[in-house]
Amino acid sequence: MSKFWSPLAASLVPYVPGEQPKDKKYIKLNTNENPYPPSPNVLEAIKAAANEDLRLYPDPTCGELSSVVADYFGLKPNQVFLGNGSDEVLSFAFAAFFDPAKPVLFADITYSFYKVYAEFYGLKADLIPLDEQLRMPLALFNRENGGIVIPNPNAPTAMLIPVDEFRALLEQNADQVVIIDEAYIDFGGESAAKLVNDYPNVLVVQTLSKSRSLAGLRVGWALGSEELIDGLNRVKNSFNSYTIDRLALAGAIAAIKDEAYFQETAAKVNATRDAVAAELKSIGFHVTDSKANFVFISHPNVDAEAIFLQLREQGILVRYFKQPRIDRFLRVTIGTDEEMEAFLKAVRGIVAP
Ligand SMILES: *Cc1c(COP(=O)(O)O)cnc(C)c1O
Repeated sequence: MSKFWSPLAASLVPYVPGEQPKDKKYIKLNTNENPYPPSPNVLEAIKAAANEDLRLYPDPTCGELSSVVADYFGLKPNQVFLGNGSDEVLSFAFAAFFDPAKPVLFADITYSFYKVYAEFYGLKADLIPLDEQLRMPLALFNRENGGIVIPNPNAPTAMLIPVDEFRALLEQNADQVVIIDEAYIDFGGESAAKLVNDYPNVLVVQTLSKSRSLAGLRVGWALGSEELIDGLNRVKNSFNSYTIDRLALAGAIAAIKDEAYFQETAAKVNATRDAVAAELKSIGFHVTDSKANFVFISHPNVDAEAIFLQLREQGILVRYFKQPRIDRFLRVTIGTDEEMEAFLKAVRGIVAP
């Protein structure tokens, strides 16, 4: 508490990112970063853009990047909004579309930033409980609301909803915006980008952070109807006209254009994930059906926090959420095959010594 904080700042409960400790070298399986480097073309493009033009502001409309993203999805540039990471895009979307007079709906177990944004913008939230198997009960979102946000796949459960199941939800909520947060969609799901031309109320949010190995570049986007994109631009241009810098613009364009590299690295992550999931099951873990770059696991006999602490001791970081309903689970990011071998060896030693 400080006398200098506004009532707003004093009231906030900020998001807590996964730890990035520097005390020793860890195998980092705790923040869903991609274990593979970004495309070499990205590094080339950023180096080429690191020139004297940095004295000039970047393009506030991100025109070229918007066109590249639009082409990639078969949309028009005015159906694309770009932001400094998808977290920023999500924050702007909460401000732009959610009605403070009615509750915003999101799952009880989901990306914890949604609650932070709702509080920041003074929105009421109603939490929709996942079912016993941790599935997203889409039918329960059919009630009065001021907006809906659903990650697909969900975090931290990793479970995917088939995209066509969103159609009924979008029809039932035709007067509200439904945000589908696709941070992990490239690891085995089908994007709702194909719904954008059918439903003016759907906003599909994606990021370069996970599947394009660019968490450090901070670029994300939203795909939606022109009126939704206009709404996001109104909010953005009331905060900061230049959210994406020149180097990030250059790197992002190169990343999207290198489809072959993207497909290859995503396929490697998926193959490692499926092998790790099978191995974990063979040593007694319950593993949710993951279509993301992480697995969500629990062991019937061994306490999750104990596993978390012992792994940490051995130099391996995973994520543990001390939170009702999921305090028996660990979220483990998929690393390289070598990293996952080390993880499995350590876990075997912990659960079956
Ligand atoms: C990682 C993540 C994001 C944020 O990604 P950035 O683009 O790095 O800000 C958004 N939503 C979910 C569900 C995520 O896991």
